[in-house]
Amino acid sequence: MATTTSSFMFLKRILTSSPCRARIGSLRYSKLTIKAQSSDVRKEHVVIVGGGIAGLATALSLHRLGVRSLVLEQSESLRTGGTSLTLSKNGWSALDSIGVANYLRTQYLEIQGIVLKSEDGKELRALNFKEKDGSQELRAVERRVLLETLAGQLPTDTIQYSSRLVKIEPSPNGDTFLEFLDGSKILAKIVIGCDGIRSPIAKWMGFSEPNYVGYCAFRGLASYSDGQPFELRVNYIYGKGLRAGYVPVSPTKVYWFVTFNSSSPGPKTTEPSVLKKQAKDLVENWLPELLNIMDSTPDDTIVLTPLMDRWLWPWISPPVSRGRVVLVGDAWHPMTPNIGQGACCALEDAVVLAKKLAAAINSDDDTSIEDAFRSYGNERWLRIFPLTILANLVGSISQSDNPLVCYVRNNIVRDRVRKNTRLGPLLEHTNFTTESLQR
Ligand SMILES: Cc1cc2nc3c(=O)[nH]c(=O)nc-3n(C[C@H](O)[C@H](O)[C@H](O)COP(=O)(O)OP(=O)(O)OC[C@H]3O[C@@H](n4cnc5c(N)ncnc54)[C@H](O)[C@@H]3O)c2cc1C
Repeated sequence: MATTTSSFMFLKRILTSSPCRARIGSLRYSKLTIKAQSSDVRKEHVVIVGGGIAGLATALSLHRLGVRSLVLEQSESLRTGGTSLTLSKNGWSALDSIGVANYLRTQYLEIQGIVLKSEDGKELRALNFKEKDGSQELRAVERRVLLETLAGQLPTDTIQYSSRLVKIEPSPNGDTFLEFLDGSKILAKIVIGCDGIRSPIAKWMGFSEPNYVGYCAFRGLASYSDGQPFELRVNYIYGKGLRAGYVPVSPTKVYWFVTFNSSSPGPKTTEPSVLKKQAKDLVENWLPELLNIMDSTPDDTIVLTPLMDRWLWPWISPPVSRGRVVLVGDAWHPMTPNIGQGACCALEDAVVLAKKLAAAINSDDDTSIEDAFRSYGNERWLRIFPLTILANLVGSISQSDNPLVCYVRNNIVRDRVRKNTRLGPLLEHTNFTTESLQR
């Protein structure tokens, strides 16, 4: 089923990414003019739309370089829901550049390796980060704490909540007109779109909708008030068209996921007790420890997410910027979480963009801002496009429900990976460091 779904998704991807679609998008908007009267339009220099990981990391990176920005977030407050994210050494390098890594390190456990298991609980392979490749740093962090930490370092009034962008239009002088659900209007010199996977700004720029990849993920955060009992390893358990995993986060918390094939994203279910039951039913005969972790999970931390990505085809996908509007994070490159890189790459984007933008702003030259955005796009595309494809391929193999593919996969993991005892090549994609933002 997964193979058929993948082929269908591949065709759909090509059709929905066509240049025609991009062109229609840009024509529709190119004729719009600004009729708003200047009296009710506030002027801003750097506006960031979206206060998620990308938006806050970009705002803080710019702040470290002396550039003030205004973050406009649609929610009423910082989105503190959600579970955890595993951040690899490239994510930690970006957090080091931004200046918040050491604070977060004190709260989250450093993971020592990876264990791969089959659904009957048999260990296929255990790999230790420190044995051969001591340079890896992997920790799962709570999304809530990451957001609060980034927001806590920003000057007061940087984030304006309840600001849902509903309209974006170019203005004749190169500025951008933004209108929000509450009727407020802003004329911004520079706009950074960090508005996530369903980004209205990306849509305005001609990007296609992200593609559903044929599987969904349950996630949860288990709580052990007397201390979590597991070894400091990421556990991956492979079934047929179904996979699960868990990893200790902090001394009292364990993050888990269950990923299952589904021909459609299905109706949006948010009732936590229903989600928990559905997730448990999927893995009811799997390892008892997995069910124990799920039982130890407060219902309200459980979420169900259909997984999506968008491939940034060369010459077909629109560029990352349009005039002085640019994209960061999922708004530009939604990718599946199979290699745990979406947030890591959003953090990398933030640091790289901030450096280039701050240099351009300080040179006080409008053209150089557009050049800075182009340079950011060229540099980041080389990193993002292969990672998006890699994540998708890893997902296709991991989610396969074809018995032959599952047999070969598990045997390769058990025999081949055992011989190839180096973890380095498997984690090559985490070898990316960002520069310090100290002025
Ligand atoms: C199941 C799953 C597991 C994952 N695991 C990992 C992992 O282990 N490691 C990893 O690195 N990554 C992981 N990711 C990816 C990671 O979650 C994303 O890449 C990351 O959250 C992207 O951050 P962002 O700020 O770009 O987008 P978001 O976090 O979606 O933030 C976008 C923000 O924009 C706001 N917004 C949207 N529209 C508007 C609007 N119109 N006006 C104003 N504001 C708006 C939203 O409210 C939101 O706050 C995972 C993703 C999934 C789905």
